[in-house]
Amino acid sequence: MDSLYSIYKQRGYTRRDFLKSSLLLATFLGLSPSAFPRVVEALELKPKPVVIWLEFQDCAGCTESFVRSTSILPSDVLLDYISLEYHETLMSPSGFYAEEAKREAIEKYKGKYILVVEGSLSPKGNGVCCTVSGKSNVELLKETAKNAGLIIAIGSCASWGGIPHAEPNPTGAIPVSQLLEDKKVVNIPGCPPIGDVVVAVIASYVITGKPPELDSMGRPKAFFYGQTIHDRCYRRPFYNAGRFASSF
Ligand code: SF4
Repeated sequence: MDSLYSIYKQRGYTRRDFLKSSLLLATFLGLSPSAFPRVVEALELKPKPVVIWLEFQDCAGCTESFVRSTSILPSDVLLDYISLEYHETLMSPSGFYAEEAKREAIEKYKGKYILVVEGSLSPKGNGVCCTVSGKSNVELLKETAKNAGLIIAIGSCASWGGIPHAEPNPTGAIPVSQLLEDKKVVNIPGCPPIGDVVVAVIASYVITGKPPELDSMGRPKAFFYGQTIHDRCYRRPFYNAGRFASSF
């Protein structure tokens, strides 16, 4: 499978363009300058990440947010940077062929693929409220998560239960992490979430080969969730020093 660098070359970009993008990506990920060679090496040599994207009780708004990402990665994140093997909304095959593509991807990229889950789960009544291809959402999630290298719960529905979880919660909606208690699930909440955060988590997985460090709510610390706006305010040093304006 192609690496990002080979895609750049195929599209007529120079090595200088590639290095510029790599530098921007390293900055975006908050990596130190010493990590730059590692970023270049990963993008040069490692194949595109394989993504299987499942949708359950969702509105597809998270998908919309992701494909419209304004990331500094090459313009079309979806087609250029990742190999999207299964996505009900975006893929062209349907029915048997779609399910077969997913099954083949799970086998072929065992332990390496990235599972992105959009929407909440519904275990109530053996998952009868949400089924795809005759299988319950619970069964589909568990069989796909079993051999995933990285699991991302995208959006507030997948992270916390979201709108389907609101009272009276007729489908018994729950977040992804509640069904996968033995797995590390990266929560990227927001309705919809910031597409660039998803891209950053995927890019960091390609570079480091492991999931990002998470905070107490399962969110990636390095990208947007490690600091509050208060922490980053340029007036913060005055606040810390107790220097406040005493008059207008
Ligand atoms: Fe839609 Fe918001 Fe749920 Fe995403 S988090 S599926 S945008 S309702």
